[in-house]
Amino acid sequence: MSTLYLTTSEEDLRIAAAVIRTGGLVGFPTETVYGLGGNALDPEASKKIYAAKGRPSDNPLIVHISELDQIGPLVKTFPENAQKLAEAVWPGPMTLVLPKKPVVPDATTGGLDTVAVRMPANPAALRLITLSGCPIAAPSANLSGHPSPTRWQHVRDDLDGRADAIIMGSPCLGGIESTVIDMTGQLPQILRPGLITPERVTEILGVPCGYDPAILGKPDPGLVPKAPGMKYKHYAPRAQMTLFSGERSAAAAAMEKEAARCRAEGKKTEVLIYDTSEEAAERLFDDLRRSDSEGADVILAMALPEDESVAFSVMNRMLKSAGYNVIKV
Ligand code: AMP
Ligand code: MG
Repeated sequence: MSTLYLTTSEEDLRIAAAVIRTGGLVGFPTETVYGLGGNALDPEASKKIYAAKGRPSDNPLIVHISELDQIGPLVKTFPENAQKLAEAVWPGPMTLVLPKKPVVPDATTGGLDTVAVRMPANPAALRLITLSGCPIAAPSANLSGHPSPTRWQHVRDDLDGRADAIIMGSPCLGGIESTVIDMTGQLPQILRPGLITPERVTEILGVPCGYDPAILGKPDPGLVPKAPGMKYKHYAPRAQMTLFSGERSAAAAAMEKEAARCRAEGKKTEVLIYDTSEEAAERLFDDLRRSDSEGADVILAMALPEDESVAFSVMNRMLKSAGYNVIKV
C-alpha cells in the first residue's frame, strides 16, 4: 500500500478519521510515543495492527479514548479509585487496566478478559479519536522489537507501506510509553513503569501502589507475566549496547576508556549520557534510532540512579534496550 502523509489540520484529521472508520490504520502522535491506531471494536482492524508491526497477537493493545464517558461502554466496572486516577491524570500518560465488556474484541486484548484504557494528552490524538467516533486501539507505531517512535519520521522509517496514513505531528515530549496500572485488584499495581509514578498514584488515592514483581529486575523465565507483552524483547537498537552504572564521574571515565578501545578496533561508537531522568525519557528512543541510522556498531550509555521513580521507568527501557548488559564501575 502507499501510505498517506497527513498534517494535524482539521481537514487532514478528518481524512485520518475516515481511514479509521473504514477499518484502516493510522500512525498518530501522543504525548508519550507515536501510536499505530485502528478501530478498537473491530477485530479485523486489531489483527491488521499486529500484522503491520509483526507483533505477537497475545500482546494486548491499549484502547484510546477522548472523553471520559467513552469508558463506560468498554468496561464492566469502573471502580472509584480508577475514576479518581482518571479525573486527576487524564488526558495524560497513564493506562488503566479494567475488566472488559464483551464488545471489546479478544483480538484487541490479546485474549485477556481485561482492557487497557488511556486518554492521551495530545490535541491531534484527541481530535482524531473524536472524529473517528470509536475508541482507537493503538500500540506503539514501531516494528515489534524496535525502539518506540517519538517522531513521525521514526514511524515512516518502520511503517511506510504498512500503515494507511501517518500523521506528521510534533515530537513526543514524554518519550517513554504510558504507566500501565492494573486496577482489577484490591490495590493499584503498576504493570509498566512510566512518568506517572507510584508516589503520584498514592498521593491521588491515599493507598499504597507497588510494582508487579515481573518488572523488578531482570525477567525471571519462571515468572508468568500478568500482561503477555511483558515477556517480549523490546526497544533493541541494532548496535551492541552496554550500560555503565556507578558513581557518575567514574562511570563517565570508564565509558571514555571503553569508547576509545572500541574506536581503536574500528567500531563506530556512540556515547549516551543524560543529565536528568526527564531528558533521558525524552531522548532515549530517538538517540537509539539515530545511532542505528548513523551506522553505530556500539552504544555505551550511562545508567540512571534507580533511587527515583522516573529514573526507574527509563532504566526499565534502557535495560531492555541493552539486553541487561550492564558494567558496574
Ligand atoms: P505498547 O502499545 O507497545 O505500548 O504496548 C501495550 C502494553 O500495554 C502491553 O505490552 C501491555 O503491557 C499493556 N497492556 C495492554 N492491555 C493490557 C491488559 N489488558 N492487561 C495488562 N496489560 C495490558
Ligand atoms: Mg510498544
